[in-house]
Parts: sequence; structure tokens; C-alpha cells
Amino acid sequence: MNINKNYLNLEDSYLFSTIAKKVADFSNNNPDKKIIRLGIGDVTLPLAPVVVEAIKKAADEMGVQATFKGYGPEQGYAFLREAIQKYYETKHVKLEADEIFISDGAKSDLGNILDIFALDNTVLVPDPVYPVYVDTNIMAGRKIIFADANEANGFLPLPDENVKCDIIYICSPNNPTGAVYTKDGLTKWVNYALKNDAVILFDAAYECFIKSNELPSSIYEIEGAKKCAIEFCSFSKTAGFTGTRCGYTVVPKELVKQGTQLNKFWLRRQTTKFNGVPYIVQRAAEAIFTAEGQKQIKENISYYSENAKIISDTMDKLGIWYTGGKHSPYIWLKCPNNMSSWDFFDYLLNTLALVGTPGSGFGRNGEGFFRLTSFGDRDKTIEAMKRFSQII
Ligand code: PLP
Repeated sequence: MNINKNYLNLEDSYLFSTIAKKVADFSNNNPDKKIIRLGIGDVTLPLAPVVVEAIKKAADEMGVQATFKGYGPEQGYAFLREAIQKYYETKHVKLEADEIFISDGAKSDLGNILDIFALDNTVLVPDPVYPVYVDTNIMAGRKIIFADANEANGFLPLPDENVKCDIIYICSPNNPTGAVYTKDGLTKWVNYALKNDAVILFDAAYECFIKSNELPSSIYEIEGAKKCAIEFCSFSKTAGFTGTRCGYTVVPKELVKQGTQLNKFWLRRQTTKFNGVPYIVQRAAEAIFTAEGQKQIKENISYYSENAKIISDTMDKLGIWYTGGKHSPYIWLKCPNNMSSWDFFDYLLNTLALVGTPGSGFGRNGEGFFRLTSFGDRDKTIEAMKRFSQII
């Protein structure tokens, strides 16, 4: 018996445990101080009323013989795939229903998709990055190289023709940086992937925060992308499904590598290792796409976006360099006075009782940067920015 020794190569993530410990210590020593957290990546607003109604109705159906559902299709019920298909039509993207696979969220599929790729592929990951891309590839033992995201390129690295890679991760709008690729930027990546026979894994978990038709919210808005890209999306941030769990992955049939449709491999993978998302949850997700559902979730997204504006307006006022905020719930700022990420964390906590996330926790290039999120309460965000304005 041999264990998968690749797991020994994983770095322990102390980021959120260290934050929790520092905050707990501060709180114990300063019981009178009201701490405001702008570090959370989880949503705080409740599910939209139409979603709750759909859950109740579906639960009732499950309790009646005539409408009870057992195992569903592994790829998801047609009603939800068709709703997503119509949603893509609003982006002028035509998908077939069997190119859409319903999942229990983007995180699982982002990891699971690696099953269909050989181990000897080289993986290109931007730095800083959502840690799941790196850790899932370390677990499998793949070679990982990094694309530097930094102040000079606005945290939007472009392909380097001298670098050869096979699997490319792109997240736009990005976590942690909030940066969003333009059509031109994404076109460069698509052209690189087509030329180098690489596959792009496009994480669109934050697509709903894009407010301009000029910015792509799906990689398939880019010519040629169906031949080189798989798209992952989620209702977690779109509709507050972080605890309800539903998302989807798009594998176009045009994506053919070595004579094989990757759609067929993914279907085979899913039908073998996955038994589908609960009927009740899929009905809940379907409700998001009704006219009323869209109206209700957009109210929540606007609430977070307004918080993001309050934060980014404060950065503008203070002359602090940042990315994100406008088309993203994240504001990624340069720590003032050349402070390190952790020094700035300690300063904000100890001086202003504010909590954010040190950028260095997301990769080497995150050092000297800091992430604030807009998923909190409005009044607390306003109060936090009042305090922030006192920084020297
Ligand atoms: N992708 C990115 C970039 C994320 O930030 C997150 C969650 O924070 C996910 C994927 C995972 O989302 P889900 O809740 O759908 O698993």
C-alpha cells in the first residue's frame, strides 16, 4: 500500500486560521472594540424569495408518490440546463443543452475536471490565485508554472509565446484581485491556446458582477473559445447558493483534442463518479432564471456592488492603488507606505479594528497587497470606510 505522496507536497494553508487567531486575540484584549470584517468571501444576504418558494414546492413534490424523484440524470435535469442555455443566449452564446453539466458548485468541478487530463500536462496558473487551482494539481502531481499578475499588468497577465503550457486557468472577474479581462485580453489567451493546443479552464464564478456589455462574462463570447475552453460557473455568488450548492460546467462539443470530444470524457467521468445535484436544489436554481428570480437576485448583487463602490470610492479618495470593485465584489489594494500584507493586516486590526485578507496568502505576487470584500452589511461597510479614511 502506498499513499499518494503528492499530498505531502501541499503547503499548509495558515491564512484563514492565522487571521482567526489574531482576531480572537485582539477581541479578547479589547472587548469594547467593535471589529468589522471585510475579509469574508462568503455571501451574507439570504436566498431570494422565489428560490425559497421553489425549494418548498419541490420539497412538497418529493413527499407525494406521483411527483417523488429518485436518482436524477447525472448531468442535471433538462429544465435547469435549458434555463442556463437561454441565459447564455442573452450573452449571444449558443450552447446545446448537453454541453451543460449541472454540478454541486464550481469548486468540485474545477478539481474533478483534472480526471480527464493526463498527468504529464504542464499547468499555467496566475499568481496570485484562488488556491484550489494549485492544490488540486499538486495532489495529482502535475507540473505547475505561474503567470505573474502584478501592478504593472493590472493583475491581468497575458500569454507569453515563449512559455509552453497545456492547461491554463483564467478567472475573470478574478478572486482575489477583482480584475476583469477585456475581450482583447481574453482573445489573446484564446489565440494562444488554439495555437499551442492548450485547454483553458475558465472560472466565471463572479460573472454576475460584470456590469458592462463591453466586458466578456463568458469566454465563449470570444471567437474560437469553444475549440479550446471549458467554463465553470456557480450560483454561489450569483444567488447566495454558497450553502445550497449548485453550479454548472460547460464543455462544448467543438472542444476536440487528439480526436476525442472532451464533452464525452466529462460525461463519462460524471456518470461514473457523480450522482447528480438534488432535485430540490435544481428547482431552486431554475427559479433564479425566471423574470422575478432575475429581478430579485440582481437586487442582492446591486447591494454588494454598492458596498464595493463605497470601498473603492474610499481608495480613490485616499489615492490608494487598487484593482476590482467595479465589476467584482473584491477590492485588491496596494498596502500604503510599502507595508507588507501582514503588517497592514496587523495595523488595520490593532488601530482600526478592521479585518481584511493579506494578499500574500494568495501567492508570491500578492505580497504588499490586501483584499477587501463587499459581501458584508451596508452600515458596517460605511463605518469600516470611515475608519479606513483615518489611516496615515
Ligand atoms: N471559483 C472562485 C474563483 C471562487 O472564489 C470560488 C468560491 O469562493 C469558487 C470558484 C467556488 O465556488 P462554489 O461555491 O461554487 O464551489
